[in-house]
Amino acid sequence: MAIKIEKKITGYNVVTEEDKTKAAEAEKLAAQRSAEVVQLGEPLSRPEKLVGNTYKIKTPVTEHALYITINDIIMNEGTPQEHRRPFEIFINSKNMDHFQWIVALTRVMSAVFRKGGDVTFLVEELHSVFDPSGGYFKKGGKYIPSLVAEIGEVLEQHLQEIGMLKKSGPDQHQKKLIEEKKAEYLEKNAHEPVNEEGFPKGAQLCGKCHTKAAIIMDGCLTCLNCGESKCG
Ligand SMILES: [Zn+2]
Repeated sequence: MAIKIEKKITGYNVVTEEDKTKAAEAEKLAAQRSAEVVQLGEPLSRPEKLVGNTYKIKTPVTEHALYITINDIIMNEGTPQEHRRPFEIFINSKNMDHFQWIVALTRVMSAVFRKGGDVTFLVEELHSVFDPSGGYFKKGGKYIPSLVAEIGEVLEQHLQEIGMLKKSGPDQHQKKLIEEKKAEYLEKNAHEPVNEEGFPKGAQLCGKCHTKAAIIMDGCLTCLNCGESKCG
């Protein structure tokens, strides 16, 4: 390659053998450094086979059931650190009304899964989406603020199943206490009709578990589903 020298030459040096070895060494070091760079957030490549679960959800806002499939990748297989983490999510339904945004949502969620790191924040993000038309009640009496929140609920259930999230809600002992309270209340208020889920018809929405199961008991608003109690 020819280089045109436009400035006046005021001095020169010949490249020595020492300079050459120095340059070679520097080059080698730079190559080593770039090889050491850990590619954080490099998306995981998809293995041929993945394990997963498919969840069916029926909602009053969609004509047909939704089938949510979450596939997991097994990390560190065969080692004590072996664990499952979600890798991709698909949602299928006969109803195509919501198709476009559902496809977009699942693609973004899958991308987040593959980026690695903590993905449990997605549950909270989805849970906090409220449908302006008001949400709905699920079987069991739980209030679901939107279809997006229900997808979040499925993700939460899945993450609990693979051990990435702790199961929330009352433990065995608390459940027993709640059952006793419920039986006591229903006995005392035998005239009060109960709803499909077995909670008093006049029950209020519990702020904790979002189920219509909160009643006034001994002067306290008490939830007969999760045990949450508020006085005053
Ligand atoms: Zn509750």
